[in-house]
Amino acid sequence: MKNGHDRPVNSVAARVVSRGESFDYHVDEKHADSELPLSIRPPTDLELCLPGFLNLAGVKFGRLIALGISAETKARWVCKCVCGYYVLRTAKAIKAGAKGSCCNRCKLLANAKSAEYFRRTGKRVNSEDFL
Ligand SMILES: [Zn+2]
Repeated sequence: MKNGHDRPVNSVAARVVSRGESFDYHVDEKHADSELPLSIRPPTDLELCLPGFLNLAGVKFGRLIALGISAETKARWVCKCVCGYYVLRTAKAIKAGAKGSCCNRCKLLANAKSAEYFRRTGKRVNSEDFL
């Protein structure tokens, strides 16, 4: 138990804990956002010759800004979230420019805020409004 609770706070919590369920967020290591800057490479000559290729560096979408092509992961652009985390996105996602684009951390925080708002007011609000 966390925060000094040595026993579950109610019967529902007791049932959940006895089943061994956990609501801790487990990050998928393969797709985890990075606190450290991800390596970027310049576009190759071949890419520059492609008719559909656009240099998306500097494009802002949602809370993200595209920095450059990922040097390690194929067909992904390195983007930086306003919170300081680095994420990988496809060129298609950048071109679509979704308003609610953000890193996983910001998304989880917005979901938590939305859930708390619902608990307090009983009104459903889209979690994107808390970004
Ligand atoms: Zn973020």
